[in-house]
Parts: sequence; structure tokens; C-alpha cells
Amino acid sequence: MDRFDTSRNELQVGGLPLSLLAERVGQTPFYAYDRVLIAARIHAVRRVLPHGVHLHYAIKANPMPALVGFVRPLVDGMDVASAGELKLALDAGADVDSIGFAGPGKREAELRQAVAAGVLLHVESARELRALADAAQALGRPARVALRINPDFELRGAGMHMGGGPKPFGIDAEQVPDLLRGMAQHGVAFEGFHVYPGSQNLRGEVIAESLRRSLDLVLRLAHDAPAPVRHVNLGGGWGIPYFPGERALDLAPVASTLAQVQMDLERALPAARLVLELGRYLVGEAGIYVARVIDRKVSRGQVFLVTDGGMHQHLAASGNFGQVIRRNYPVVIGNRLQSSDREIAGIVGPLCTPLDVLADRMDLAVAQPGDLVVVFQSGAYGATASPQAFLGHPPCPEVLV
Ligand SMILES: *Cc1c(COP(=O)(O)O)cnc(C)c1O
Repeated sequence: MDRFDTSRNELQVGGLPLSLLAERVGQTPFYAYDRVLIAARIHAVRRVLPHGVHLHYAIKANPMPALVGFVRPLVDGMDVASAGELKLALDAGADVDSIGFAGPGKREAELRQAVAAGVLLHVESARELRALADAAQALGRPARVALRINPDFELRGAGMHMGGGPKPFGIDAEQVPDLLRGMAQHGVAFEGFHVYPGSQNLRGEVIAESLRRSLDLVLRLAHDAPAPVRHVNLGGGWGIPYFPGERALDLAPVASTLAQVQMDLERALPAARLVLELGRYLVGEAGIYVARVIDRKVSRGQVFLVTDGGMHQHLAASGNFGQVIRRNYPVVIGNRLQSSDREIAGIVGPLCTPLDVLADRMDLAVAQPGDLVVVFQSGAYGATASPQAFLGHPPCPEVLV
């Protein structure tokens, strides 16, 4: 939240006071994403990437077309997880050589679309490999393939599991040698490996360790590769702080390990390009969600601000997007930043469920109907990761400022 200008009583977003931005959008609620903040973050990441490491944007974090178009020239490629995202990447002008398509359960039609487009497919199962060979034959065009590996190591950091164990994603590392040996018969063009050990990691040393072990795994598996390894995607999973007490990721250990990893890769597999794919880290802190207070109620001594936005548009902030314990996102009354008149209040949405909470008993400026609630850290996994049709509410507009 300190990335936005909070120096005045009213939050400044893209050079406009918040209330004027709401007028410009023409309604509340809405999401707003800040171009300057996105570009600054991407440049900051590039500064720690060794020369030659490619940075990809994982579209699922925020697939707004204008945002994807803005990000495209700032990164080296795009990672997509569906034919819909593939279309977004292609529409934005991404080079097919730099598009990777991962995700379990790719349908035959999607595989054909991807082969027709000429993008790199991150294969997640033996079935997918067979279907790709069929698609390649039908289209008379090779299917470009990287194997997505479910790693055989496990890392624990900040209470978080990375890799290891049974997973629906990728192919178990121990099954990869057989699959690689059978690949010549499959008639697909092998290009490399993809290891993605997890998401939302806030500890630089854990990410560094994961990069190191992922590379070691790839180098081991590469002995059985049927063709020179050209792509090595080692995932990302860089996290952003959401909750009080969480600290921003320390990139120093990531940077030094990456330099070593890149050197080792160059030596062992000189044709290989090292790719990192980041979603949340690039855009998450550049976005806000804005809703208007409709009602102010006191129930048995507790203040509730009822807004026109809520869980249906921002599932993650409501605590229902896979969180084990519900904690408050950073939330403010965006037109009363300097107010010293404060109270403990809850912010809820218009849905008929007690899950529809944007803030639970939070210290906030005293607010009235018409005031604007701002949820920070909302640039990733917001609008498209929420059940927007629930209760028949209209979809939430998004603007790039
Ligand atoms: C979701 C996903 C990402 C992006 O994750 P973030 O936490 O947003 O960085 C990257 N790669 C793969 C394979 C994914 O599924």
C-alpha cells in the first residue's frame, strides 16, 4: 500500500484523487491497476536477473487485456494456462517462441490450437503427449514440447510446502526418464523442462534453494533428453506481503543463486534458455479494489460498513481463496486517509452470506455512506479469481491508469 500516494487525505491513483477516478470509471465497485507501479516492479526484477535469464508474465495472475498489452513489451514472454489466455497473449503481440502453455487437463481442442499457433507446450501427462503427437500429425506441424516435472524434493519455508508428494500437476520426476526415452516414437519436438514448485513464497532463501534444487533435477533428467535442451523454466512463486507482520521478499539471496544457476546451466546445457515466470509479484501490489459504503449499521455494539463490493468480486480479500486462517488485507477509507476520527469496524458486502467480509474488526477512519473503501494488494487474483455471477451482481469493471 505504500506504493500508492497516501500523502493527502484522499488516495491519489494514476494522478487523480480517488473520488474523481470513481467518477471517471462511472461506478463503484471497480479495480484499478497502475501502469507506473507495474513498470517499476518489472524493472526492479530485471535489475536482479542475470544477463540472459528470461522473465515471463504468468497471465492468470491478471488477464485484463489492456494490462497484458502493457506488460508484453516489458517482459520476454508470456505463460498461459488455457486457450483463452493463449488468445490474450497472441492478441497482445507476444512472440510464439516465447509463449509457454502449462496446466493439467488440456483438452484436445486446446492442444490443437496451441500446436497450430506454434507455442511451447508444458506437458503434464503421458496422455497429453499422445494427444499432442496426434495433433502434430493431423496439422502437419511439430508440437513443441517441454515436460513439466513434479519435483522429487520438498522444501518448507514460512509454513509453506514447495514441491514433493503426489500432485495433479506435472509428471513425477521418477517417471520422466521413461517418458523421455519413449518420446522419439511420439513424433513431438522435445525442447526442455518446466519445474514450478509453488506460489506466494516470501522467503528469498527458500526461493533460492528451490532454484538450486530444480536446476539439479533438470540437469539429472537432461541425460535422457532426446534433443538438445533449449528451455528450462524454473517457475517463480515470488510472494508479496498481504498481512500485518509479513515482510517484503528479500531478493538478494535469489539474485546470487540465480547468477550461479545461470552459469551452471550455460556450462552443462549451452543451448538452454533459463526462464522465470512471475504473476503476482509483477502486478499484485500495483492494483486496488474500490467499493462504496452503502450503509452503516451498528449491531450489538459492532459497527458494520455495508458496501456495494465484496466476496463475489474479491474472493481473496474475503479470505475464501484457499486461505486457512482469515486475515485482513490492507484496507483503508480512501477519502479519509488523514482522519484522526477512528473506530473499529467491519466491512462487508451485499451477499447474503457471513463469508462476505472485506475487513473484520479493523481499525479504520470513521466512515459514512458514500465513502470509498480501498483494498490494497489487489492487482493479482482479483476480478477473474472471484465468483462474480454469484447473486446476480453485474461484473466489476477494471481500469488501467
Ligand atoms: C499460477 C502459476 C504461476 C504464477 O504464480 P504467481 O504466484 O502468480 O507468480 C506461474 N507458473 C505456473 C505454472 C502457474 O500455475
